Amino acid sequence: MPQIDNPLADNTLRIILPGKLIDGVADKVQEGMAVAIQGSAIRWAGPASEAESLDSAGAPRETLHFPGGTLLAGLFDIHTHTNMPGDGRTGEQVNDDDNDEIRLLRSARNSTAAVASGVTTMCDCGSWGRTAFALKEGLAQGLVEGPRVLVSGPPLTVTGGHLWYMGGEADGLDAVRARVRYLIKQGADFIKIAASGGSTLTSDPYRASYSVAELTAIVEEAHNRGRSVLAHCRCTDAINAALDAGVDAILHCSFYDNDGSYRYDDKTAGRLAASEVWLNPTMGLGNANRTRLAKIKTERALTADEEVRLERSTSSGERSLAQFTALVKAGVKLVGGSDCGWSYYPFGDFQGEIMTLHAAGLSAIEAIHAGTRSPAAALGIDNIIGTVEAGKEADLLVVNGDPTQNMENLRDVAAVFKGGDRVATAKERAGAG
Ligand SMILES: [Zn+2]
Repeated sequence: MPQIDNPLADNTLRIILPGKLIDGVADKVQEGMAVAIQGSAIRWAGPASEAESLDSAGAPRETLHFPGGTLLAGLFDIHTHTNMPGDGRTGEQVNDDDNDEIRLLRSARNSTAAVASGVTTMCDCGSWGRTAFALKEGLAQGLVEGPRVLVSGPPLTVTGGHLWYMGGEADGLDAVRARVRYLIKQGADFIKIAASGGSTLTSDPYRASYSVAELTAIVEEAHNRGRSVLAHCRCTDAINAALDAGVDAILHCSFYDNDGSYRYDDKTAGRLAASEVWLNPTMGLGNANRTRLAKIKTERALTADEEVRLERSTSSGERSLAQFTALVKAGVKLVGGSDCGWSYYPFGDFQGEIMTLHAAGLSAIEAIHAGTRSPAAALGIDNIIGTVEAGKEADLLVVNGDPTQNMENLRDVAAVFKGGDRVATAKERAGAG
């Protein structure tokens, strides 16, 4: 479970006076509010007029004014891959070209980029060998600057299945049980399963990879140790198997049949809506790819290969948006996860994914909840983080403007606090703060 105490935080009582507050509890933006933090925790939240009478118990006081800003809980990205460069290299390339030492250094750099962008917690949903566990140790020792990072280690996958090269192959009931126990022994905060194939060349994205019995054994072992289970599902069969097994979150969740054709499946949609499972659409990833290609297109002609990729990505993006728009209407629960590090999605813009949830029909404030409190609920740590409430960790984000009026404002980061410590923003690091 994530480390919550922060010995480096000083004891100053910091009173933050934002123009607006999105606390994650009320389903509206509030004005005239203040939030007090001390040590690593949120001490108090209430009307600004009452902030002056707070007793600092002899500790120094400091008041921070953000009159044009909105204060919200720090962002929580439920789906990242810190080993990956986000520069278009495939998993196979990173497996062949790099080693664990280089991948770990990249994880450190990506973690810093994430926290500077306002992400104060993230899940690493698949990394090589021991690298994610080492990253956590480095963060805990203060060697690396980053968010709270919850890690799965190498995802459970069948022989030759998606992400096999990370080291998590396990087949059969005994082997998957042993693998979950081993990962928890190493420090896994949650369990990630490749329940279908994916981009990995030896895998088939349109087939379920594990049997329901194997998935059920994995979920049983994980839940028995208080760990949530996140399942990568790129086809309808895998989604239904994951639902049968009782996983906590389904990543990608796309409705493809075994022959690779897309078909919106009403029956599966109904099951998803009736269940408590969280869905992570990862639509920001396709957007990042298309934005990149569109930008290149303004500079030069695309190659034939790039044209094909743009076309394919545009149609799959349209299908995905239509699917999740329908699923939101059906009543599913969405959760924000960028899948950054993968493909051409570098760390530092989880906001792009949150905006796609708004595009799929969540209100702006619901989309913000999906990027703050909902991932915390999915991971079972909403008692510690995810909302701006007294007693929770002081993981906070201040953005300029009101993101419920214009979601682009989420990218205009004014201040980041993690466990009560103020962290330099990306803009400040670039010297433009
Ligand atoms: Zn992923």
